[in-house]
Amino acid sequence: MNTPLKNCLQKIRPVIKEIQAYHVADASGLIKLDAMENPYSLPADLKVELQARISMAEINRYPDPSASALREKLRQVMRVPEDKALVLGNGSDELIQMLAMAVADKDVCLMSFDPGFVMYKMIADFVGIKYVGVPLSENFSLDMERTCQAIKQYQPAIIFIAYPNNPSANCYNEKDIEEIILMAPGMVVLDEAYHPFAQTSFMSRLTEFDNLLVMRTVSKMGLAGLRLGLLCGHSDIINEIDKIRLPYNINVLTQISAEFVLDNIDVLDTQAKLIREERELLLEKMKAISGLQVFSSQANFILFRVLDKKANDVFESIKQSGVLIKNMRADVGLLKNCLRVTVGTPSENLAFVDALVKAIVND
Ligand SMILES: *Cc1c(COP(=O)(O)O)cnc(C)c1O
Repeated sequence: MNTPLKNCLQKIRPVIKEIQAYHVADASGLIKLDAMENPYSLPADLKVELQARISMAEINRYPDPSASALREKLRQVMRVPEDKALVLGNGSDELIQMLAMAVADKDVCLMSFDPGFVMYKMIADFVGIKYVGVPLSENFSLDMERTCQAIKQYQPAIIFIAYPNNPSANCYNEKDIEEIILMAPGMVVLDEAYHPFAQTSFMSRLTEFDNLLVMRTVSKMGLAGLRLGLLCGHSDIINEIDKIRLPYNINVLTQISAEFVLDNIDVLDTQAKLIREERELLLEKMKAISGLQVFSSQANFILFRVLDKKANDVFESIKQSGVLIKNMRADVGLLKNCLRVTVGTPSENLAFVDALVKAIVND
C-alpha cells in the first residue's frame, strides 16, 4: 500500500475499523419481510395528489430549516403534550446520533439492553463513548436486579429503552420502566418506533418525568423512505439537542410528503390495524408448526426460534422459496437459533408460512 494512503488509514480510530458495516441484504426478486416495513402503499388517488404537491416543491431553495409546519402537524398527530418540545431527525437514527453527540465525553456511557436495537451501540462507537448493554432475562423481560446494579455502576448519561423492543417484539413491564426513569442519573429515551402496532406509549407521561424523552419515527408506519423521526421532551433538553442538529436536516421533499400523508393519517391507521390483525393470524399459524418456539409480539414482526434444525438452513431454505426474512445469526445467547419475520400482506404471509413449513418439514 502506498504511504499517503497508509497514513490516512492510520488516522482512522481503531473502534471504527472494527465496526462491521450495517449490512442490508439484497432483496431483489424476493418477498421482502426482513426490515419491518409497512407492505402497503398509498391509495392511487392520494399518490396523484402527492405527486402534484411534490411537483410544486421549490427544490432550488433550501427547505424550512426547522420544518416548523411539519413539526406542528407531528405534535398533533402524535399527541405530544402541549408544554413539551420536539426536534426532528433524518430518521430516528439521526436523533440517536444527536443525543450521543450531546453527551459524548470521556467516562460517559450509553446504556441499553441486550438483545436490542443495534444502532445504540454502533452510534456510541461512532462518537467514541462507552456502551453498556444490560442482558435481558430469558423471556426478554427486563432483569431489574441487573439493571439497577448496572445503572449504579456505570451512571449512564442516556438509557435507551426500545418499547416494544427490537428484535424481541415485546413491551417491557411499565412499572419496571418507571423504576428505571426514577433511578436514572440522566436521560431515559423511550424509543417507540413500533407504536402503531403496540398502541401503548409513554408520550402522555412526559409531563410526569423531566428526564424522560419519547422518540417516534414514521418509518414503521409506512413512510420508511422519507427518513423522519421525532424526539419529544422537556424544552430545556430539546433546545440543547437542537443545537447539534445540522441545518436543513429534513429535506423539502420529506417535509412536503410527510405533511401531506399526516393530513390523511387515517389511511396509515387503517393499514396499521390490518397489520395488527395479520400479526395475530400469523402468530396463530406459526404456533401450530411444531419445532418452533414463537415469541409473542406487540410490533409488526415476529421473533421465533428453530428447535430441531439449524436456523441458518431454515433461513436459506425460506429464501430459496422466494421470501427474505432476517437471520439473527446467533449460535449462543438469548437469540440462539432465532429468525425474525416482518408481518406482510395476507398473500406475503401465506407465502412465508408455506416456505417455513417446507423448510421445517421437508428439507
Ligand atoms: C427501525 C427502528 C428505528 C429506526 O428508525 P428510523 O426512523 O427509520 O431511523 C429506531 N428504533 C428501533 C427500535 C427500530 O427498530
